[in-house]
Amino acid sequence: MLHFDNRFARLPGHFYTRQPPQGIPDPHWVSVNRDAAALLDLDAADFDSPALLAALSGNTVLPGSEPLAMIYSGHQFGHYNPQLGDGRGLLIGEVNGTHGRFDLHLKGAGMTPYSRQGDGRAVLRSSIREYLASEALHALGIPTTRALAITGSHLPVYREEVETAAIVTRLARTHIRFGHFEFFFYTKQHDALKQLADHAIALYFPEFAGQPDQYALFLQQVTHRTASLIAHWQAYGFAHGVLNTDNMSILGETFDFGPYGFLDDYEPGFICNHSDHAGRYAFDQQPGIGLWNLNAFAHALSPLIAIEDLKRILGEYQAVLTQRYATLMRARLGFQQEDAGDQQLLADWLDLMAESKVDYTQCFRSLCDDNQHASLRNDFVQREAFDHWLTRYRARREQEAGSVDEHRMAMQRTNPQYILRNYLAQQAIEKAGHGDFSEVDRLLAVLKNPFDERPGFEAYAEPPPSWGKELQISCSS
Ligand code: AMP
Ligand code: MG
Repeated sequence: MLHFDNRFARLPGHFYTRQPPQGIPDPHWVSVNRDAAALLDLDAADFDSPALLAALSGNTVLPGSEPLAMIYSGHQFGHYNPQLGDGRGLLIGEVNGTHGRFDLHLKGAGMTPYSRQGDGRAVLRSSIREYLASEALHALGIPTTRALAITGSHLPVYREEVETAAIVTRLARTHIRFGHFEFFFYTKQHDALKQLADHAIALYFPEFAGQPDQYALFLQQVTHRTASLIAHWQAYGFAHGVLNTDNMSILGETFDFGPYGFLDDYEPGFICNHSDHAGRYAFDQQPGIGLWNLNAFAHALSPLIAIEDLKRILGEYQAVLTQRYATLMRARLGFQQEDAGDQQLLADWLDLMAESKVDYTQCFRSLCDDNQHASLRNDFVQREAFDHWLTRYRARREQEAGSVDEHRMAMQRTNPQYILRNYLAQQAIEKAGHGDFSEVDRLLAVLKNPFDERPGFEAYAEPPPSWGKELQISCSS
């Protein structure tokens, strides 16, 4: 069914603890993501077979799978925590298929030596949130881990309330986090640190292997990818919520979804994580936090890289991020060419949007279509300032080749109609709690094609109703 070639499991035992999953009783499918299944060469018949359900609910181990809990540590909310690791998830192996290699990870598969106070479980609510978000980001062109399926059970799990257990099967190019390197650095196991860096280079950056400055080149790649990732989040209004170094992938993919949130109203200081009282991980703090996290990562690599190189490479972060963000936002404004005034035009637009707290996604979508500019104007408090900006904008757009219709269509391919708003996820979660998973699938289908208007799905593009603006999402998952 799946062809495993588990390269992480070939590393020596100090990188992980091998153990089978603790399954969930009487499991059922909550949702299956056919696109991700295709990446693994799985088809519908595989999901009809009890064997795959049993394996992805942690009740059996597939032939070739070598489940293990990885060891890592990391900085959480700015403080070093030496005791992390897979506390409720297991890497069950690396699949090598016709579409390349993917790590498979079962999130919520029971206690491990790294569970600390936790119960090793994930609840249905947070599993649906991870599942939907990773697919939503992917469809927007944002690097991310993927999700293959959710399995559910009646097993009770105790959080603020009693919930039920679920398991997400996560797909990722790697499960190696910044925190892996921090663990071996802070425990002074520098041979293991080097071994892990060599492993990461051999698997993910083979072109650097054996070069005299291979570790510096590795850090540079991680730095550039992280900068690019965060530029994407800022461009599309995604707040991760828990940007601890143990939630940072070395391949620059969005990793570990907790209390994340997409912006509804444009509020740069938006804090999606209810437990983040100081706003350390507020939306507009993410670019700075990305660099903070890279500093922690670079520090962990300091036995392998000269200090001048560390500094030089970290010094490249800001420029990569700014340039990537500028390119993405130019596209959102409908500009293919670069113009010296674009940065100011964008800054003024964002200021206007923030002042009026307009819906971030809808506002850009309406800007695509000249016929909607009149109604868009009504969303702004400062109408004259809006008019003035729109005049400048249209003049700038004239410089671009193509007809008004062509501009509209190009912009609609980069400005989504649908995003994963918290209230939409909440509606799907509530129904799922009553055993009706249809809304999870429906929402998934909408989010997979975020740029295409779908007749009958107008409601999915709407800003949240008042109850949906006040949803409080915390870390407990
Ligand atoms: P997270 O906030 O999900 O990124 O998790 C941070 C750390 O806590 C990781 O080491 C997780 O494995 C661990 N963890 C989170 N939730 C649980 C849980 N319910 N049981 C055991 N460990 C957990
Ligand atoms: Mg995590």
